[in-house]
Amino acid sequence: MIAVYPGSFDPFHNGHLDITERCAEIFDEVIVGVLRNASKNAMFTTEERCAMASEATAHIKNVSVRSFNGLLVDFMKLVSSRTIVRGLRAISDFEYEFQIAQLNRRLDPAVETFFMVTNAKYSYLSSRNVKEVASFGGSIDDFVPDPVLARIAERLKPKTFMLEMTD
Ligand code: ADP
Repeated sequence: MIAVYPGSFDPFHNGHLDITERCAEIFDEVIVGVLRNASKNAMFTTEERCAMASEATAHIKNVSVRSFNGLLVDFMKLVSSRTIVRGLRAISDFEYEFQIAQLNRRLDPAVETFFMVTNAKYSYLSSRNVKEVASFGGSIDDFVPDPVLARIAERLKPKTFMLEMTD
């Protein structure tokens, strides 16, 4: 069975990696679906987000990364999958996820959404707080896989340089 794990992944962090690894043990194939039409203030382009997810999951044989635009249910058809996997961190995630799952089911009744409960180790992690901590110079070593760490460091370098200049 092919599962699709969709999201913005801006950037792909250790919570995402954990869900992907656990999914890969259950499903024959896992496709990380990187949403092209993510928020306009994304830190990384779709190509960069895909590259980071690919590099971070390179060690898992049955995982591939693809980007998609538009409706998730259309992407599901394109890759011949009926199984969406989403991660749940807290009750606060539930309301939104519940709505989207119902909506997708309405758009295509053949599609089912499976929820995986976060690993407690990563329950506080979100792409947003990774970016926030990094932008203020905090250490994100424990939050993201190494390839992502390198790209974030590279992205924030000019900013740090500018801050130094204004000192
Ligand atoms: P979105 O799809 O809302 O843009 P993300 O790209 O951040 O969100 O996340 C993609 C998926 O990964 C979502 O199902 C989200 O709930 C899940 N996820 C995000 N952070 C974690 C975490 N720390 N642990 C488990 N699942 C997570």
